Amino acid sequence: MERTLAIIKPDGVAKALAGEIILRIEKAGLKITGLKMVQLNKKSAEGFYAVHIKRPFFESLTGFMSEGPVIAMVLEADNAISKWRTLMGATNYKDAEEGTIRRDFATDIERNVVHGSDAEDTADFEINYFFNAFELCA
Ligand code: UDP
Ligand code: MG
Repeated sequence: MERTLAIIKPDGVAKALAGEIILRIEKAGLKITGLKMVQLNKKSAEGFYAVHIKRPFFESLTGFMSEGPVIAMVLEADNAISKWRTLMGATNYKDAEEGTIRRDFATDIERNVVHGSDAEDTADFEINYFFNAFELCA
């Protein structure tokens, strides 16, 4: 079983898309083993996206990610990382496949509604960034 971190970003929470997104996750057979709503501050958003520190969009992205509450989830399945990224769609919603979350709901390359880990090592880092062992269920 593989694990991944999913986040409903501040735009997704603000637009009341949490129910729709969780429905798609459960229908796809991804098991939710952790879930919480939190608001990142600028520093904690910067720590989460440290891998992007040199990118031109870093300041704007970390401002956006700390503008309102997010919903973080740990998803578990065989190939959870790629399954969740397939449901999300491409980073730029204009390139995303029909029926994906980003294609259906994103309004901007930055404000693209959801996050997903991109590999096993980043998934471990990201899950531990949001959750401690007691907050995860079997
Ligand atoms: N992003 C952006 N401009 C870009 C690329 C990315 O604003 O040109 C934002 C977008 O919100 C994206 C996040 O930065 O989801 C992280 O970028 P990454 O390349 O890791 O995309 P993801 O893994 O989220 O698809
Ligand atoms: Mg990424």
